[in-house]
This record gives sequence, structure tokens and C-alpha cells, in this order.
Amino acid sequence: MPHLDRAELLALPEAASLPSREDVARLLAASGSDLETLYKAADEVRARYVGDVIHLRGIIEFSNHCRLSCNYCGIRSRNTKVQRYRLEPEQIVELAFRARVYGYPTVVLQSGEDPWYTVDRLCWIIEQIKADGPLAITLSCGERPAEEYRRFRAAGCDRYLMRFETCDRERFASLHPDDDLDRRMGCLEAIRDTGIQLGSGFLIGLPGADIDAIAADILFATGLRLEWIGCGPFVSHPDTPLAGEPLLEDREVYYKTIAVMRLLNPYAHIPATTAFDAIFSNGRNLVLQRGANVFMPNITPQTYRPGYLLYPNKPCVDEDGDQCAICTSGRVHALGRKIAEGPGHSLRPDYAQRQTGPAAAR
Ligand code: SAM
Repeated sequence: MPHLDRAELLALPEAASLPSREDVARLLAASGSDLETLYKAADEVRARYVGDVIHLRGIIEFSNHCRLSCNYCGIRSRNTKVQRYRLEPEQIVELAFRARVYGYPTVVLQSGEDPWYTVDRLCWIIEQIKADGPLAITLSCGERPAEEYRRFRAAGCDRYLMRFETCDRERFASLHPDDDLDRRMGCLEAIRDTGIQLGSGFLIGLPGADIDAIAADILFATGLRLEWIGCGPFVSHPDTPLAGEPLLEDREVYYKTIAVMRLLNPYAHIPATTAFDAIFSNGRNLVLQRGANVFMPNITPQTYRPGYLLYPNKPCVDEDGDQCAICTSGRVHALGRKIAEGPGHSLRPDYAQRQTGPAAAR
């Protein structure tokens, strides 16, 4: 295989067309010195397009109730071993105030698909948080009718995060007994239509997904022109139908995926997702050196954390928000980077043109 050429990699962000699936798969197969070339190029592109700062987005996992039974997920409704919890709306607002204290300019409110949080309740939460002062709000609570996304936007929601998980129709169907890819994609389109900044991504290394399939997911995600791209390793949970599924043989593929995502999406916000720390020691730090520019410290109170085990070995389960805040600033400084100031809205040049709603002025 010919060696990867640094100049060719650095030209990818400005290329007139996307590489072929074969070319992306070739990048994912990089090894030896090519691996270093790929990682260095991704880090260079990250520095050039989104800078040396790391954006902090505090995550509150506010409910682990879920109406769905995704086969990979530890909090799937059919997992009866999970002790379910819900935070009261007032408690969520209170925790968002903590985000400000910790110096996180964004709060990410994530849950299972829990209908107890009606659109009225969620809008109330968004409005209360916004009334208190500047804090960007990302919601991540699943599939909803289009009208609800419009209401979230009107209430002040800045971003919405929902992964497509895999773009392979058959694989999506086999993993989601109560969902389908068209519905998921319809929701992503509806979110985008509201003017909310769109975040999506996929699970790296799902059973049966070889590097060709991962290349397809990378190109699919890139085609969505996402404001934020969240991809993380699939980690098998023992209490799901995918118990015992192995990690990818070539563990570097997890990092290579992020590096290639950066080369093809130079302006996107790309988080170092938590699951990297579940399978690698120092995983999230390495991702931040291979293309990522966002870190998501956990603000969820410690007592609830064992209930939100989407996969085993989730980090920080025994810690609380204060400990995560201290650890986060240590990480950022150890990497020689700075914490970003301001809300960290989309940096994509085409985002401003697509803006239509009230959040544009904030
Ligand atoms: N309900 C919302 C949704 O579906 O978008 C947000 C919560 S959902 C639990 C958040 C993400 O967790 C999913 O998009 C999925 O990719 C990830 N996840 C679930 N199980 C996982 C596993 N076993 N390994 C890694 N990530 C997992």
C-alpha cells in the first residue's frame, strides 16, 4: 500500500469533492508511520480550522427511562436490571446553574426517550435556564414530532444531538426493534429545519461493521453537514442482546475514524466522547490530539450515575460534578490547550446562511 502523503491529507478539507468510500477505507487501514501521519494531519487541521481551544459542554443525564429497546444500549426498556430514575425539572434547572459555576458555557440535557418529559416540561426547563443568563443549551432526548422541535427552538434550545447510529438500513433495522432509519432521518431533518444546530454521528465498530461500513458512515455523516459530530466506540453491554460482542481487532480504527472525520469536516465541533475512556486509558485525551475539540464533563449527581450505564466501564461513575470539573481543567492544561470562552456555536461557514430563527440573534 502506498504511504499516506501529508500534503494530500491536509488538502482534504478544501477538496472540491468527497473522497470515495475506497479511499476512506484506505485511510482507516493506515498503520505504522501512516498512522502518525494521519493523526498529525487531523491535529493540524483541527488547530487550523477550529483553533487550540477546547469547548466544555457539561452533560446532565436527567432520566434513564426509555421507551425504546435499542439492542446495544444498557438503558434499553427491556433491561429490567436497571434502576430507573428521573430528575425533577427544578433539579435540572438547578444543575444547569452549576454548569455556570464550573465555567461551562453549554449544558447538554440528555435522557432516554422518556415521554414523562412532555414538550411543555422541557420548554419550561429551557426557559428557566435561559432566563438566568447566557448558557447554550443542547438537548439530546430522542425522536419527537417536528412541532416539538420547533417549540424547543422557540423556547431557546440552541443545539440538538441525535446520532443516526449507522447509515446501513439493514443494520439499523436489526439493532432497533422499535425504530427505523427513515424515522430517525426525518427527525434530523425536522431539527435542522428549525434552525437548531444539528449534532449527529454513529457508533464505531457495531457488530458486522467492517472498515468499509465505517467508511460509509463517515461519508454519510459528512454529507449531513453537521454542526457537531459525536461518534464513539460501541462497547458491548452484558445485559443486552449484543452481550459479548468483541471490540474491533484494530483498536486504532476508533481513533482513525475521528481523525478522518476531522479531515472531512474541518469546521465541525467534534467531542472526545466518553466511551473512549471506557476502552482506553487516557482515551479522551488521545482523541483530543487526533481531531476532537470538545469535552463533555459530567454534571449528573453521583447517586444517579450508576443508573446511566449505556455500556460497562463508563468513567466517572463514582464521582460528582465537582470532581469532574477539577479533572477536566487538569486534562485541558495537560494537553497544553486552553478552555474556550463563549457558547461555542457552529463555526461552519454555511451555518450563518442557514440561520433563520430567533437563536440567530443570541
Ligand atoms: N435518547 C437519546 C438518543 O437516542 O439520541 C439520547 C440517549 S442515548 C442513550 C445516547 C447515545 O448512547 C446513543 O446515541 C448511542 O449511540 C449511545 N450508546 C448506547 N449504547 C451504547 C453502547 N453500548 N456503547 C456505546 N455507546 C452507546
